[in-house]
Amino acid sequence: MTGISHGVVTFATLYVATQNVFIAGSAALGSIFPDKIKGPLFRFWHRCYSHWFVLYVAALAFFWTPEVLAVTGTGLWQKGIVYMSRMFFFWFFAGGLLHILEDAICGPVLVLYPTKRTTVLPRLFKTGSVGECLFVIGYCAIMYVRNRGGLF
Ligand SMILES: [Zn+2]
Repeated sequence: MTGISHGVVTFATLYVATQNVFIAGSAALGSIFPDKIKGPLFRFWHRCYSHWFVLYVAALAFFWTPEVLAVTGTGLWQKGIVYMSRMFFFWFFAGGLLHILEDAICGPVLVLYPTKRTTVLPRLFKTGSVGECLFVIGYCAIMYVRNRGGLF
C-alpha cells in the first residue's frame, strides 16, 4: 500500500472509531512511519525490521496509560505537554501497527521473525494499482456510512 493510502485508511478508521481528530491524525502520521524510516534504503529493506509488529506492541506498552484511551479530547491542552506527547506517541505507534495490517492485505509481512515474511491475509491488490485506489475509495465510503450511523 502506498503512503497516502496508509494515511487515508488509518485516519478514516481511527476517526470513525474515536471521533477524535488528534488521535486519527497522530495515527495517520504513524501509519507512514514504517515505510519512511528506512529513507534511501527503503527499497532494499522494505518490510524488514520497521514492519515487525513486536516493536510497535512494545512501544504501545511503553506509552500506555488508561488515559490514552480517553477519546473525548476535551481539555487536552490543559493536561500538559507530557500527557499530550504520551497520547500522540501511543496513537502514532498504533498507526504503525495498522500499517502492518494494511500491508498484510497486499503482500507478505513479518510475523514471528524480523527477517522472514509470511502471507497472513489474502492479497486483495497490488501496491500502487487501480485496485488499491478502488479499495481506499470503497473503504472510505464504508467508513463514511458507518460514521453517519448506518451499516453496523
Ligand atoms: Zn509498508
